[in-house]
Amino acid sequence: MITIALSKGRIFEETLPLLAAAGIVPSEAPESSRKLIIGTNRDDVRLIIVRATDVPTYVQYGAADLGVAGKDVLLEHGGAGVYQPLDLEIAKCSLMVAVQQGFDYLGAVQQGARLRVATKYTDCAREHFAGKGVHIDLIKLYGSMELAPLVGLADCIVDLVSTGGTLKANNLVAVEHVRDISSRLIVNQAALKLKHDQLQPIIDTFAATVAARHHS
Ligand code: ATP
Ligand code: MG
Repeated sequence: MITIALSKGRIFEETLPLLAAAGIVPSEAPESSRKLIIGTNRDDVRLIIVRATDVPTYVQYGAADLGVAGKDVLLEHGGAGVYQPLDLEIAKCSLMVAVQQGFDYLGAVQQGARLRVATKYTDCAREHFAGKGVHIDLIKLYGSMELAPLVGLADCIVDLVSTGGTLKANNLVAVEHVRDISSRLIVNQAALKLKHDQLQPIIDTFAATVAARHHS
């Protein structure tokens, strides 16, 4: 049995065409089904639906052989026990620093002010500001980071941005690019050896499908 860990939403939706290319079709959609284990047209392949941040953990411990996880999630997880053989180039966005409209971010940085930074991405944020020589107080949040500057919890946030619509709706502006983010295929290291003959064709098909997109 091959178990593939996915999260609901954009990652599931954008992984579907890759699975289809490998001849794998889920028997249910996670949005409509409440099942956490979803069968496929192939008796030897099943999907498990977990929180995006939990995907690397399931793969690390071998509860799933394969998974799809955002680079943001992998950076915070640390990547122990998992191979990251392939950038799937899906769920693309950027990790950005954002502030409330009117907050003089560049001025604050130039004056050497200590910044209060609210984020779910504490490791990435710490590294980013250390690299700039900016002193920060980190405030760990688990969601809705956009709210923090609006109510005085933080001077800025470090969050994922794609269209910028959520920032704009909350009177925030992106002021600095931290890094580009996309989702990666991850593989349990032991499974890649023990189930090589089953896993490698799936990995190869995903790779070929991603590569083919560059030429279309
Ligand atoms: P939850 O929404 O359940 O709290 P989450 O926010 O971690 O969890 P998603 O919103 O589904 O989960 O995001 C999953 C992954 O998709 C993220 O880890 C990231 O890599 C990517 N992602 C998140 N936000 C965006 C975005 N605005 N545009 C593109 N990709 C994104
Ligand atoms: Mg979300």
